[in-house]
Amino acid sequence: MVRMRLMQRVSDMLDSGLGSRHMHIYHGCCTSCPPPCAGNRAGNKDCRSGVVVPTLRYAKDGAPLFRAAAAESRFFWIIEGEPMPELPEVETVANGVHQRVRGEVIESVWLSSKPEPFKTNPEAMAETLTGRRIERVYRVGKHIVFDLAPRGGDLAAGKAKSERKVGPQWIVHLGMTGRLLVSDAAVPVPAHTHAILRLGSGRELRFVDARRFGRLAIHARDAATEQGKGFEGTGREPLTISSADFISLFRGRKTPIKAALLNQKLLHGVGNIYADESLFRAGIRPKRMAGRLTREELERLRAALQLVLKHAIELGGSSVSDYVDADGVRGFFQLEHRVYLRGGQPCLTCGTPIRRTVLAGRGTHYCPTCQK
Ligand SMILES: [Zn+2]
Repeated sequence: MVRMRLMQRVSDMLDSGLGSRHMHIYHGCCTSCPPPCAGNRAGNKDCRSGVVVPTLRYAKDGAPLFRAAAAESRFFWIIEGEPMPELPEVETVANGVHQRVRGEVIESVWLSSKPEPFKTNPEAMAETLTGRRIERVYRVGKHIVFDLAPRGGDLAAGKAKSERKVGPQWIVHLGMTGRLLVSDAAVPVPAHTHAILRLGSGRELRFVDARRFGRLAIHARDAATEQGKGFEGTGREPLTISSADFISLFRGRKTPIKAALLNQKLLHGVGNIYADESLFRAGIRPKRMAGRLTREELERLRAALQLVLKHAIELGGSSVSDYVDADGVRGFFQLEHRVYLRGGQPCLTCGTPIRRTVLAGRGTHYCPTCQK
C-alpha cells in the first residue's frame, strides 16, 4: 500500500524514519503537484507550477542524500510503502529469472524511448541482445547479470581462436522500483515497461520500472576487452569475502562502521536493513570508528553479516510490501528484524528500548546495552 505525506520541514523527515527503504522522497515543487506529477522529478521543468525542481542526489544504494538537497528545497513529498531491493531480494530475483529463462534465445527486443534506464545506447543494446541465447542469470552486488552466448559470427569478426569464446553480458540494476517479469506474451504489458525481450518459447522477459532509477547496460566480454572479463561491479562480495580480506577492508578507516558497511566501494550490495541487523548481531555500535574495531569484532561482524544475508536469501528476501519476484508474485515479510525500524521498542535480547539515530544520512537502529 502506498501512502503519501507532505513534509514541510527537514526535521519532520528526520523524525519520520527517513532513509528506510519504505520511503521515497520527492522534492516539493509546489503543494499542488504531488507525485507522480512529472514536476517532482529532479531537474524537471514541466511542473504545472513552473518551478524547476532542484536535483535530489542519491547514494549508490538508492538512498536519498537529503541533507545536501534540504538547503535547496522547501518541502518534500514522502511516499511510503515502496521497498527498495537489497542484496537478498536481488539474489532472489536473479535466481527466479535464471530458472525461468536459462537456455532461452532472445528472438527480438523492444526498448522504450525513455532515456533514463539505458546506460548503453538502446539501439546497440537491442542489436547485441537479439539472437543470443541466455546461458546464466546471477547476482553481482546489486546487479543482475545475464551471461549471453557468443554468436557464430563473432569468430568471423576477427577473434583469435585461442581466446575464450564468450558472449557479452546484459546488466540489470533494479534501482528502487525496477522489476523483472517473465510473462506469457498474451499478458498485457504493464505501464512503465522499458524493455521487452521476446523469447523463443513465446514468453517475454519484461523490465518494468515506474520511477526509472533502474539501469540496463551491456557489458562487452568479447575479444576487444580484457580477455573476456565478466562484470564485477565495485567493491567486494560480502557473502564470499575471506576473513583476512574483510578485516583489511576497514583498516585505518576513520568513518563509522555503519557508513563503511554501506560504502559500495568496499562491500557491494549491503543496504540499510542488513547493516543495522548485522551490527546488532555482532554487538557493535554503528557509530564506532571502522578502523578502531578489533580483529575479533570484525570477524564477528563478517559472520553476522553473512548469516543475516544468507538467512534473508533463503527466505526469498525480507521485503515488506510490494516487492515482486520474477513471476510477479508479491514477496512477503519474513526476516525477523531485531533492531531495524524498532526504535523505542524493547530489545528482544535485553529489553532496553532500541535507539534510533541518523548516521550517514540513514535511519540507524541499535540497542545501547547489547551493542558496545
Ligand atoms: Zn539489548
